[in-house]
Formats: sequence, C-alpha cells, structure tokens
Amino acid sequence: MVALESPSRLSTLHCSACGAAYSAFELQRVSACCNVPLVADYDLFEPLGRDIIDRADPSMWRYGALLPLLNPDHKVTLGEGFTPLLRLPRLAARHELSSLLLKDEGQNPTGSFKARGLSMAVSKAKELGVDGCIIPTAGNAGVAMAAYCARAGLKAVVVMPRHTPQAFKEECYWYGAEVELVDGLISDCGARVRQRNADGALLDISTLKEPYRLEGKKTMGYEIAEQLNWSLPDVLLYPAGGGTGLIGIWKAFQEMKALGWLAPETRLPRMVAVQAKNCCPLLETYAGRQANCHAYHGSPTLANGLAVPHPLGEAMMLRVLRESNGTVVSISEEDMLAGMRDLGQQEGLFVAPEGAAVWMAARKLLGTGWLHPDETVLLLNTGNGQKYMDNVAGRAFN
Ligand SMILES: *Cc1c(COP(=O)(O)O)cnc(C)c1O
Ligand SMILES: [Zn+2]
Repeated sequence: MVALESPSRLSTLHCSACGAAYSAFELQRVSACCNVPLVADYDLFEPLGRDIIDRADPSMWRYGALLPLLNPDHKVTLGEGFTPLLRLPRLAARHELSSLLLKDEGQNPTGSFKARGLSMAVSKAKELGVDGCIIPTAGNAGVAMAAYCARAGLKAVVVMPRHTPQAFKEECYWYGAEVELVDGLISDCGARVRQRNADGALLDISTLKEPYRLEGKKTMGYEIAEQLNWSLPDVLLYPAGGGTGLIGIWKAFQEMKALGWLAPETRLPRMVAVQAKNCCPLLETYAGRQANCHAYHGSPTLANGLAVPHPLGEAMMLRVLRESNGTVVSISEEDMLAGMRDLGQQEGLFVAPEGAAVWMAARKLLGTGWLHPDETVLLLNTGNGQKYMDNVAGRAFN
C-alpha cells in the first residue's frame, strides 16, 4: 500500500473505454471490463505547484509526484529524459517557417524515447514484485526493456521480427536478454508472446498492456512545457506506431491544465500522428476507409517503429486527434530518406527514419496550408539513426 511518505500522487487506474476504476496498488494488465488499456490517475486537486519539480535532477524523474512509482528505492534509471529541445534555424529559413523546434529523443539511453516508458514500466515491475518481463517489439522497445531489466536484475525475453536491423538484436544480447526472432511484424510477435507466456509467469510489457509505459512517455509533455517556459507549440508532430507518446503527451497537457501549470488562455497544440505509407492503419480508420484497424494489412518499413498494423490504443489515439483538431499524415520510404538527408545535411542530426518522417509530414502540411508558416512547430525525433544502418547505409546521396 502507499507509504505515507511516498512522493507520488498516484490514486487509481481507470478503464480507457468505460471509466471503471481499478486499484493502482496491485499488478494490473488491461481492463477486465472492456479488455482495453488502463490509465493512471493522480490526486491533482490539492495544490501542487511547479515547485515540486526537482530541478537538480536532469531526467524524467524530476516530475516524481506526477509519476506512479511509490517507493523511490525501486527506481530503475539510466538517466532517461530531459532531452534537448533544439531550434532548427536552417531548415526553418529554407521553408520560411518562423519557429521550428525538434525534441531530440535520440539522445536517450539506448538511443530512443522507449527508454522513458521502459524505465517506468520496469521500475513498477520491480515495485510490484515480478520475476521478469517479456515484450514484442519492432526494435527499440526490446533494447530498452533488455537494458532496464538487466539493471533491475530481472529476466528479459524479447520477441522481434527477423528482419529487424542487426544492431537492435545485438544490443539485446549484450544486455543478456533472451531474444526470439519471428517471421512477420510486431503483431505476429505479440501472438508469439501470448503463446509463450500463457502461464503469465512474466509480465507482458507490450504497448498499453500495462499502464506505466504511458506514464514514462507522458514526461515528454511536461518537459516540452518546462523547456518552453510554460507555453506550448501550435502544432506537435509525432511518429505514431502504438501511440503511447501521442496519448501520453496529450495526457500530460491535460494534467498540467488541471494543475494550473499552464495559463488559462493557453491553447493546446494540434496533434499530428505521422505514419509510414507501408503501414498506416490509423490513417485508414481516420479517413473512414475502415471501421477500425483489426483487419489492416501492413508491410515492413525503414521506420521499424511505425510497423504496427493493429495498435491496441487506436481509439485513444483517435480521441487525441479529435480533441486537439489534429490530423494523420503518411510518408513514403523515399521521403523518409529525403528527410534524413535534410536533417543531417542542414542541421547535423542523424535521426531515425521515424523522426525524418515527422519532418517530411511538416513539409507536406505546409504545402497543403494545414500548417501556417507563422505557427510554432515542434517535431519529435524519437530515435537515433545509428541503429538503422542495415536500412539506410549507402543512401546518403540518393
Ligand atoms: C516505437 C517507436 C515509435 C512509435 O512509438 P509508439 O509509442 O509506439 O507510437 C516511433 N519512433 C521510434 C524510433 C520508435 O522506436
Ligand atoms: Zn471498461
């Protein structure tokens, strides 16, 4: 139960479909009522000012009161979060944008923003007393889980597509994880995880199948506000696979509003979900060409993190797009490479194809007039390009 001195304001969990309450103080997976993700709630109504931020801690853990870890002794950290928010002046000038920003999540431990979610989920796994964790992954989440489980002394089983670039597999081996390769996409890996873990011996940390990766990812939203001195961009573009970042950042904005951390007149950003043309289930549903993603067929893409044909959080992502007046854009493989060249040659950033897709989506939306040149635009680069060598080597000059 909650230690009296716990810094966390965690109060309950609720079903993301019907709102039914669940205990936040025992191990939970998806909701038993609707079989959908559970979401963490905090007591936000007692005064909780921005002075709770631990400014001496340059990591996502600086927002401890708004995070779900009850006992700080269970924290499993490699220094994740509080990544740089960079201006992109050369690309902005070229495209006549007045303010173009990029949050560089490629500078996280293990090279992607997955570090945030897995640091949080593995910390909670340790707090709740599990023996080990298992995950289906397109690459980065598996690497991050392997690293944090090693640090926590927990067993780690990672199931990834056989076509995943070698760097992801190799890094998992060095962290001592057991790696199983599957022919297919992350959805096929998910089926294999369910089969392998039928007895529930390991905690399945698939995207949104436990409530705490989302809490790690939401810290991006807090950081963006803090780094912009408590203002927010007009438009935020995010590469959506399973969607935890999109959902988490939006959750952080709502929490900050409830806390009074944002000026009452603050307009929340329009949220843009960026997908790969090769695998864009959200776009197809958003455009009304299918009722939902259940029967969607996707194919592999250079942006491995976007090859998620059946995201469990689809309804939650669509809600964010609706509430924020956002939209969905899909980007071709060739355009991702062009975006990597832009960010590399103009700004000195070697980004993951997912991050490059986000920049190309901004260009596309500028072209259609959906995005205005005088708006503040924030790009999320979710990963470091170095791990994608098998996908992109030799393509720097077309
Ligand atoms: C996992 C991943 C994504 C997609 O993140 P979701 O939270 O699943 O939407 C985007 N970019 C990279 C580099 C990733 O590893
Ligand atoms: Zn429910």
